[in-house]
Amino acid sequence: IFITFEGPDGAGKTTQLKKVAQELQKLGHDVLVTREPGGTGISDKIRSIILDPANEEMVDQAEVLLYAASRAQHVHELILPALQAGRIVLCDRFIDASVAYQSYGLGVDIEMVKSISKFASSGLQATRTYIMDVPVEVSLERLNQRAGTGDSTQQLDRIEQKNVAYHSRVRAGFHQIAADHPERVLVIDANRSVDQIAEDIWQDCQQLLEE
Ligand code: C5P
Ligand code: MG
Repeated sequence: IFITFEGPDGAGKTTQLKKVAQELQKLGHDVLVTREPGGTGISDKIRSIILDPANEEMVDQAEVLLYAASRAQHVHELILPALQAGRIVLCDRFIDASVAYQSYGLGVDIEMVKSISKFASSGLQATRTYIMDVPVEVSLERLNQRAGTGDSTQQLDRIEQKNVAYHSRVRAGFHQIAADHPERVLVIDANRSVDQIAEDIWQDCQQLLEE
């Protein structure tokens, strides 16, 4: 079982992912928690190139391919072996993020992004995807709070620094992805308490385990 969590920064993906991992572990499942871009040494190096605020001249094509390169290494080095070993893999972002951010956000051709992603992941798809949905103002507000703490690890990355119009296109993109793949994707109202959100997700996860 391969579960992915999607949605904007500041929607609480990481918090929810950890909660699901804990519940699954309580039931005795072997769980791998990982994230994109990243998850392996090479993928993390690529991540830092993509997100470095100094790389403002990066062209859209390079951005798409760097995410794909990071994903290819992550899928083949970490995710596929884990799935083959019978582990449940929980991943913070996956291909839907590329479609939402690079296609709907930047305007890169959607079929191109999908086929590059398919090549990178050798066709691996999520069993279930939770899109954590919050209004753009809410996610940007949470991001700015985080960035305002003075902690240098919480500075806004290159993508987070983009404007409201960009983030609005990304959110609409996530909604479109959910509409296009109702059998796989569930939109979760993430503008609620952590516990309410966790309850919705866990209910669905339990169903997934029975299938
Ligand atoms: O979720 P996380 O904060 O680790 O993601 C890192 C950054 O990469 C975020 O700013 C996110 O919006 C961006 N991203 C992206 N396209 C992807 C995956 C992540 O723009 N395909
Ligand atoms: Mg982030």
